[in-house]
Amino acid sequence: MTPPPVRTGVPSHPRARPLRWCAGAAAGALVLTLAVPSANAGTTTAAITGTAAPGAPARGTAPAGTPGARGIGDRLFPDLGNGGYDVRSYDLRLRYAVKNPKQDVTGDVTILATATQDLSRFDLDFAGVSLRAVAVDGHAAAFVRSGEELVVTPRRVLRKGRPFMVTVRGFVARPQQPDAQAPTIQPFVYTADGTVVSAQPDGAHTIFPSNDHPRDKASYRITLDVPKGWTAVANGVLAARRTTKGRTVTTYLQRQPMASELLKAAVGDFTVVRRPAVNGVSVRDVVPRRLAPQLAPRLAVERSQIAWMEQRVGRYPFDLYGSLVIDAQLGFALETQTLSLYDTVFFGPKTPVGVTNPVMLHELSHQWFGDSVAPWSWSDVWQNEGHATWYELTYAASHGWLKDDSGYADLESLFKATYRLGDQWRDRWGPVARPTSAKIVWDLFNPNVYYGGALALYALRQEIGARAFAELERRWVTQYRGRSASTDDFIRLASRVAHRDLRTFLLAWLYGTRTPPMPGHPDWTVDPVPASARALAAARTALAATPQTAHFVELVRRARG
Ligand SMILES: [Zn+2]
Repeated sequence: MTPPPVRTGVPSHPRARPLRWCAGAAAGALVLTLAVPSANAGTTTAAITGTAAPGAPARGTAPAGTPGARGIGDRLFPDLGNGGYDVRSYDLRLRYAVKNPKQDVTGDVTILATATQDLSRFDLDFAGVSLRAVAVDGHAAAFVRSGEELVVTPRRVLRKGRPFMVTVRGFVARPQQPDAQAPTIQPFVYTADGTVVSAQPDGAHTIFPSNDHPRDKASYRITLDVPKGWTAVANGVLAARRTTKGRTVTTYLQRQPMASELLKAAVGDFTVVRRPAVNGVSVRDVVPRRLAPQLAPRLAVERSQIAWMEQRVGRYPFDLYGSLVIDAQLGFALETQTLSLYDTVFFGPKTPVGVTNPVMLHELSHQWFGDSVAPWSWSDVWQNEGHATWYELTYAASHGWLKDDSGYADLESLFKATYRLGDQWRDRWGPVARPTSAKIVWDLFNPNVYYGGALALYALRQEIGARAFAELERRWVTQYRGRSASTDDFIRLASRVAHRDLRTFLLAWLYGTRTPPMPGHPDWTVDPVPASARALAAARTALAATPQTAHFVELVRRARG
C-alpha cells in the first residue's frame, strides 16, 4: 500500500509526496460504525434452526470434536482469522439493487474448506450489518454473532481432514464515504461513480463472512449482479457476463490463491481500458467513465513496469494486471490482487510524475511481494512493504525520479539518512519485523516497516553481494508463489542462497531493538534515542521533519487526535 500525496504542508520537505503504505482499516472503529443493530443481526441459535446450541455435544457415534479457535493466532490481531479449518475457495456473490453507490449491498458466499481438527463448531470473521442464514453441507446450521465473530455450529461434527461447505446467505454490507482525514481506513467506500472495496489489512470481513487473514489464502469466484448500464469489475479474469431483464451479472475467477484483504470489487459508472498484453500478461485498467480521457493515458506506463519487474524477479504471478482509479481522497494506494487501487490525487496536478510512476511500481511489485507471497502474520508485513519500497526506490533512481519520490538525490544518501534514524524508529514503532502495535493502522504500516524494511534489504545486499541478493529475490517469489511465508522462511532461504548462516545477521536487522552496523559503511552513524522524556518528545517531533516519516507521523498524529 502507498499513502497519498499529503495535502497538509511539510515545510522541511520541498515536495509533498505520497505516503508509503498498502494497509487497511483498523477493525475496532469500523465495527462501531457498521455493527448497526438490525432485525437479522444477532439472531439466536434456536430461532434460526432449532438445532443444537453452540458447544452442545454432537449426536451419534462421531467423536465429540472441539470448537475452532476464535483467532488464527496473530499477535497483532488476536481475533482475526480463525482456527480449525483451511479455506480452499470462496464463491462470493454481491448484489447492487439500484444505481446508487451509497446503497447497502447484499450478498451470499459459499466457502469450501477442509477441517484441520474434529470441529464441533467454528468461527467466520464477520462485521457486516446483518445476515440471514447459515448452512453447512446443505443443512441449516446454528449461528450467533459475537463481536466480529460469526460462530457456526453444524449439525454434525466436522471430521479432521474432510472437506465441508458453508454457505452464508443474505449478508448486508454498507459502504462509507471515503475520508482521508478519518482515523481508520474504510474497507468499503462510495464515490460519485460507484462503490469500491479496499480492505487491507482487516476490513474484508466488514463486507463478507470469511477467514480474514492472509495465512489462509483461497481461490475466488466473484459474481457481481448490477443494474444494466453499470460496469462491474473484480479480481481475476472475466469468466462470464450476461444481461437479462435489466440486470447484468458478471463473474470473475481469481484462480491463484488470494488473501481476503486483497479482494477487489468495483461497481458503477466505470469504463474498462484494455491494453496489449506484456509477455502474455493481459492488461486492463478501470477508470470513471467521465474521467477516462485524462486518466487512461497516465496508466499506460504500467506495461513497461511489468517488463521492468519481470526482468528483476521473474514471471508475473497472475493472469492479468491493471489499475483502478477512483475519484476520491482515499489517503492511500492499495495493491489489490491483479487490480491496484489509486485515488485521483495520485494523478492530480500537485503530484509529479516522479512520484506517481514510482508509486505505481510500488503497487505492481506487491503483486509478487505481499499478494502472491503473502505474510504469514501481520508482523511480517515488512516483507510486503520493505520489498515494495526497495523496488519503488530503485525504479525511481533508475529513471531519474528519486528526488521527487524520496527527497534524496541518490540511494546511498537516502539509506544513510534512514540508517541514522534506525534506533529512534525502532524505539517508536518497534523492530522491523515486530511492530509494537496495530491498534492504529499507521502503527502497523509505519516508516520502519517501509524504509526500515528496505534498509534491512540494503544491508543484506551489502553483506551477501548484489548477485546473491538478486538470486534470493527470485527464489523467494518462486518458492513461495501462491503461499504465505514468514520472516523465518525468509531468513532460512537467504541462508540457503548465500551458502552461509545469516540467522544472527538478519535477526539483528529484523528483530533487534538497536540498529546493527551497516556492512561496507563503518562510518555510518545512528542517532541515539534520547534518555529524558523531554528530549525524546523533541526527537519524535523532529522525526516528522524527515522526508521518510513526515507523512506517516502526520497521519498517526491525526489518527490519535
Ligand atoms: Zn505498499
